[in-house]
Amino acid sequence: MSSNGNEKHVKVLILGSGPTGYSAALYAARAELQPVVLTGLQLGGQAALTYTIENYPGFPDGVGGAQLGELFQKQAEHFGAVTEFASANSVNLSQRPFKVEADSGDYLADVLIVGTGASPNHLEVPGEVELTGRGVSYCATCDGWFFKDKKVVIVGGGDSALEEGLFITRYASSVTIIHRREEFRASTILQKRAREHPKVDFILNTVVTEVVGADKMEALKLKNVITGEETTYEADGLFIFIGHTPNTRMFQGQLEMSDLGYIKINDKMETNVPGVFAAGEAADPHFRQVVTSAGMGAAAAIQATRFLEAEESSVIVE
Ligand code: NAP
Repeated sequence: MSSNGNEKHVKVLILGSGPTGYSAALYAARAELQPVVLTGLQLGGQAALTYTIENYPGFPDGVGGAQLGELFQKQAEHFGAVTEFASANSVNLSQRPFKVEADSGDYLADVLIVGTGASPNHLEVPGEVELTGRGVSYCATCDGWFFKDKKVVIVGGGDSALEEGLFITRYASSVTIIHRREEFRASTILQKRAREHPKVDFILNTVVTEVVGADKMEALKLKNVITGEETTYEADGLFIFIGHTPNTRMFQGQLEMSDLGYIKINDKMETNVPGVFAAGEAADPHFRQVVTSAGMGAAAAIQATRFLEAEESSVIVE
């Protein structure tokens, strides 16, 4: 990293510190490109908020999400990656080096790897925002403990809803999973575990229309989507796991994206801007696993290395 006035010039700047970012950093560091990782708000990304990850290869007994994140970071830093605890606020990709404005200052990057991941979706019903942190939560690992012997509701029918719901059974007296359909997206193994758990029950074909409470959540208003029947359901906590939105707003108008905001990449992790690569959940609407994000991050760094090498050799030839 060199400093040019107020701007730090880096060969490889990586946005995001989840499995994508640190796998990219590991590969770029081992290629001696001295990558700099801007962590974003959540060090370790979403994976770090997961209590146990059971499907990352190499850990037959599972591994804590935060622990895995620390291992990723340590391994990348061992080879020379630098971590900066900061978020990027804006980018200018119209010319190289690319300019990135961050909390920690401005950067000029020869190559940019976007691993900004995704954030949890909100229900967008009355009371949700007001009661977030007062009963409403999007993170079981962070907040599950507060619901010891309490009645908890989970919304969603995917892997996150069932996995996190099962996790909260450690604390809660009961966990009710509310899903808007009859069928679940979640894997068969999680569905089986949830169905067999004595503390878990289900309310299907139902949506939450309002979170009710003054200082803290007291109840939910529910609507059966088939019968239209409206009911009130008393509960102490609501955990919402209804999917994610990619953190890509900063790149709008500069990188090509799908309608849902996923950055478009080819099979080499290349975006429409030469020198900008994207990987992990910012670019992947299909798999969204720790192992696939890590793989994409590694692929992005390998391709970024080839890109810089090709550029260097063409400069020498000229
Ligand atoms: P997801 O698979 O997209 O599931 C979101 C769930 O929320 C769906 O059941 C959806 O219902 C429901 N939903 C969406 N919008 C809703 C709304 N406005 N109101 C009520 N319900 C709503 O999301 P995810 O569970 O977070 O999983 C994301 C990815 O991470 C997936 O690829 C998943 O496999 C992966 N993941 C894997 C693991 C694991 O392997 N252990 C753990 C966690 C996550 P519909 O089904 O009706 O659309």
